[in-house]
Amino acid sequence: MKIFTRYTISVFIIILLLISCTTVPITGRQQLNFMPDSSMLAMSFHQYDNFLKSNKLSTDKRKTEAVKRVGGRIQKAVGRYFSERRLSHKLDNYSWEFNLIENKDVNAWCMPGGKVVVYTGILPYTQDDAGLAVVMGHEIGHAVAKHGNERMSQMLALQLGGVALSTALSEKPQETRKLWMTAFGLGAQFGFTLPYSRIQENEADHLGLIFMAMAGYNPQRAVFFWEKMSQKKGGKAPPEFMSTHPSDKRRIANIKALTPTAMRYYKKYKNMRSTASQ
Ligand SMILES: [Zn+2]
Repeated sequence: MKIFTRYTISVFIIILLLISCTTVPITGRQQLNFMPDSSMLAMSFHQYDNFLKSNKLSTDKRKTEAVKRVGGRIQKAVGRYFSERRLSHKLDNYSWEFNLIENKDVNAWCMPGGKVVVYTGILPYTQDDAGLAVVMGHEIGHAVAKHGNERMSQMLALQLGGVALSTALSEKPQETRKLWMTAFGLGAQFGFTLPYSRIQENEADHLGLIFMAMAGYNPQRAVFFWEKMSQKKGGKAPPEFMSTHPSDKRRIANIKALTPTAMRYYKKYKNMRSTASQ
């Protein structure tokens, strides 16, 4: 009887793992995502609206337009990447939005479903559209690769232990909300924040480079941006983006290694664009 029970549990766990196992686009890495996409998007849209209500949008028309322009081009590139692989359904419930908020912090993020925020404090580092594309491509990369879901799944497994997900969502809304804040780095104002893992950071760099290249921005710009960010070190408190995105030799070496592949996308789509416009 005991063996049967153990067997049943093992089969259940294997089935759960198979159901929860998804593949990251571009890198092909297998990841565990326990959270249903519908819950992730509902929480994302709700949190995004709350964030916009309690923060001030930039009144600088030119800079705001730049954020929306670059975001729109990366959105198209992501859509194209997915449609060429017949994966468009994965973006079905996305509701893309690109906003610039008036805030001195050096920061930017993208929540599930394409909800992007750029802080005015990061603009001196991005400088132009291509620089913005580095940051926005990277953040959109995190969202497309479902890194938030992966982190929440890992934390759910660790913190809630044996509590079933459905129970966690319905009976422990506080805990689930806290996990959300932590997973998306919005927890700083509540006294806790955790960076993405190194694997996820490298993956977001990878996806970001491909998306920015497909959107028509030279991916070689990425190394320049991260080198500029690394010179920022040595100030008082490290800005939010710096503390969660260490721009060290390893990161820059990883980006340099990925750049030739991204350049192939850049050239291929540049040729396609110029053919289309003839
Ligand atoms: Zn990141």
